[in-house]
Amino acid sequence: MSQDNNLWRHSAAESITTTPLAGDHDCDLVVIGGGYTGTSAALTAAEQGASTCLLEARDIGYGGSGRNVGLVNAGLWLPPETICQQIGARPGAKLIDDLGQAPDRVFGLIDTYQIDCEATRNGTLHNAHNAAGLRDIAERHRQLLATGAPVTLLDANEARARNGSARVFGALHDARAGTIQPRAYCLGLARAAQQAGAQLHEYSPAQMIRHDGAQWIVKTPGGEVRAGALIQATNGYHLGDTGAPVPQYVPIWFSQLATKPLPGALRRDILAGGEGCWDTALVMNSWRLDQAGRLIIGAMGDISHVAGGLHRAYLQRKLAALYPQLAGQPLDFGWSGRIAMTSDHIPKTVELGPRGLSTFGYSGRGIGPGTSFGIALANAVLAGDTSKLPLPVIKCHREHFAGLRAVYYETGATLIHSLPAG
Ligand SMILES: Cc1cc2nc3c(=O)[nH]c(=O)nc-3n(C[C@H](O)[C@H](O)[C@H](O)COP(=O)(O)OP(=O)(O)OC[C@H]3O[C@@H](n4cnc5c(N)ncnc54)[C@H](O)[C@@H]3O)c2cc1C
Repeated sequence: MSQDNNLWRHSAAESITTTPLAGDHDCDLVVIGGGYTGTSAALTAAEQGASTCLLEARDIGYGGSGRNVGLVNAGLWLPPETICQQIGARPGAKLIDDLGQAPDRVFGLIDTYQIDCEATRNGTLHNAHNAAGLRDIAERHRQLLATGAPVTLLDANEARARNGSARVFGALHDARAGTIQPRAYCLGLARAAQQAGAQLHEYSPAQMIRHDGAQWIVKTPGGEVRAGALIQATNGYHLGDTGAPVPQYVPIWFSQLATKPLPGALRRDILAGGEGCWDTALVMNSWRLDQAGRLIIGAMGDISHVAGGLHRAYLQRKLAALYPQLAGQPLDFGWSGRIAMTSDHIPKTVELGPRGLSTFGYSGRGIGPGTSFGIALANAVLAGDTSKLPLPVIKCHREHFAGLRAVYYETGATLIHSLPAG
């Protein structure tokens, strides 16, 4: 198995054909980056009849959108009261309300554009990994109920039955949530944008971005785009120095391994309700099934890093601990991805210039937020009105010592994964 053998590349039912940008073009909106944020922005703009050009440095879904766990959760990773403490009661309530509807948006787009992405909407389980984890989810349950969210606290017996594992101590079920094949969803958004008239160009990195006083000018190796409005949606996979402010975040690595499709007898009791899940451990774990019946297990840490063998061994131990019947199962796929974390775990929308915005830092919760922010950003830059955005626009955002902090998190994950009981 190679170090980066991404299941989502192997099993995506959606695909798209594009050509690199060639020559000079004028349009209403130029979007840089082809993840959820960029493709949902391009789709929104093209559906409104705006001439739209999306530039992607690699291929669509190359970044976090093609590597994640596929849990379509509502809200952010932070509990509601913490969001309000961080950004204030009014903006907090607006953000919570907006992102509470994010799974509806995602599954609505999947339905409208018939995106073939293994969509399953049976909720997600936030599993307690010990007694402290149980207190954490009980507190989240209290706060989420107060916002009207359809969440249920499951006791140890119920959680064990739903997971098909004795290694959980309770769970928080959120009925708004679900799972998808994450890369197929991104490719489906791109395909829908293309069908709506947007021009999409893969292998077309933005190398220079500037505003000349009248319009945005973006240069790639093959050409130039001039547009009245610009969205930079490069997030945790930003490439190159374009002259525009670079997204600032702390990179946190997360890796996943996937089994072969499991025979029915082996997987009968595992997540029989079709939920995806993650847990309360400080160095978090995730697990879910895909449509083919593979068990996909994930944890913080980078399996392509020099200490990747430790993370891989840990994931194998964790799989066997959760599901002893899967001990020793061959693991066909293994890949990692970079989460763009901000210090306060709140995304940022930064003004780049006239009708130009950059958004990033979903902090590990980007399927719903990426889709929602992409739609909102397209509406905002086309209308020249940022008042309806989920978050207030800021002039700049800085993360101090991001590289050092990334080393700290990776080292912490490596140490914990080195422990026999880790
Ligand atoms: C391992 C992992 C697990 C995760 N699990 C979940 C989960 O279960 N649920 C959830 O909600 N979120 C999850 N997330 C977070 C989520 O995947 C991201 O927040 C989301 O994909 C970000 O989407 P995006 O469009 O903003 O950025 P990205 O998907 O990262 O896209 C940015 C794109 O910009 C392109 N680009 C960069 N520079 C340039 C340039 N100069 N010119 C042109 N293009 C450029 C890149 O190639 C890339 O394709 C996870 C993330 C990771 C990494």
